[in-house]
Amino acid sequence: MNVLVLGAGQLARMMALAVKPLNIEIRAYDVGSKQVLNPLAPEQVFGNLTDGIQYADAITAEFEHVAHDVLALCEASGKLKPTSQAIKIGGDRRLEKQLLEQCQADNAKHVIVKDKESFDEALNQLSLPIIFKSALEGYDGKGQWRLKFESQTSQTWLELNEFLKSNAKQGIVAEQMVPFQREVSLVGMRGHNGEIKVYPLTENHHTDGVLSVSLALDNEQKIQQQATEVFTRLTNKIDYVGTLAIEFFQVGDKLLVNEIAPRVHNSGHWTQQGADTCQFANHIRAVCGLPLGNTELIRPTAMINILGEDTIPNQMLSMPGVAVHWYGKSKRPGRKMGHINVSGDSQEQLNQRLSTIADILPDAAFADINAYIKGKC
Ligand code: ATP
Ligand code: MG
Repeated sequence: MNVLVLGAGQLARMMALAVKPLNIEIRAYDVGSKQVLNPLAPEQVFGNLTDGIQYADAITAEFEHVAHDVLALCEASGKLKPTSQAIKIGGDRRLEKQLLEQCQADNAKHVIVKDKESFDEALNQLSLPIIFKSALEGYDGKGQWRLKFESQTSQTWLELNEFLKSNAKQGIVAEQMVPFQREVSLVGMRGHNGEIKVYPLTENHHTDGVLSVSLALDNEQKIQQQATEVFTRLTNKIDYVGTLAIEFFQVGDKLLVNEIAPRVHNSGHWTQQGADTCQFANHIRAVCGLPLGNTELIRPTAMINILGEDTIPNQMLSMPGVAVHWYGKSKRPGRKMGHINVSGDSQEQLNQRLSTIADILPDAAFADINAYIKGKC
């Protein structure tokens, strides 16, 4: 089978690597150059979007910020999975909040801000601190403003107003800051026939607003069940097909949805080593109408992102239970360049290996990650 992925970044690349053994070929549509590429050898160009659509048995996306005319063309072919509506929901926080409300999925109290009146309404309804998020185009903590003290109110409005005026389609979601204990996420998939499988939750740590470490959680049945119920309600509601990730805030033993991503997700990269079938293979299986593979945790696994670096100590390659995944990207500060999956036969062994790694990774680039790991293990 042939699959066209909208977006030609590392997620398309990892889908291509994962499904080659199933004789499934992936081509990727680069939204920048508007060319269809081989995601494993991006210099190989196969044509334009129309050629890509014709080539494909199924079409999917690696990210939610795909131009709506591209989505419309793909949808018209009848091959796009998930639907353009689902992809648009993931790319617009206003639609996302609507879906959460429709599904009665607990989330942070919020107000949509369009103008000064709704900004004042947000201040009335919510208490400080408040986080303001751009409705469109936000990722890795970009497009956010935090209002902590009343004295910052007029400056915040100046900035928000400037932002709203710059793009008529934009809006802002004002959200109550949640005093969470930790952030967790659930990655799962829904197949053509409504079959649902989810991986164990992961605990997520961020460095400067970017995901930096994910730890697969086993034996957290209470919150796993809550998260799975939310996943089931959301994906059934929109007849979703493919992989979807839900980011949650954990407050006590309750989960509040932060946001959803209609795609494979960075917090699911550990599944490459920690599960029989990884999220990339399962996503493509779902969109191709094939049975989903096992999503159980087969060995304790964690993932460390490599941010802004294009080398790591060679010693890492000889360590047992360590798998390094580079994305073939050029170096830029803070950029997601690759990740390291670390596994152990037991949680103790995984913790030992993580501690060793925290000693090996240079503090110059990994200080926050190393400190987090040392605090955990
Ligand atoms: P990413 O692309 O990394 O998922 P994003 O830009 O889509 O991030 P969010 O996930 O909404 O944005 O927010 C980034 C981070 O800011 C969250 O992971 C969390 O740490 C913090 N944050 C966001 N909303 C809230 C909130 N309501 N209360 C407390 N913290 C929040
Ligand atoms: Mg997020």
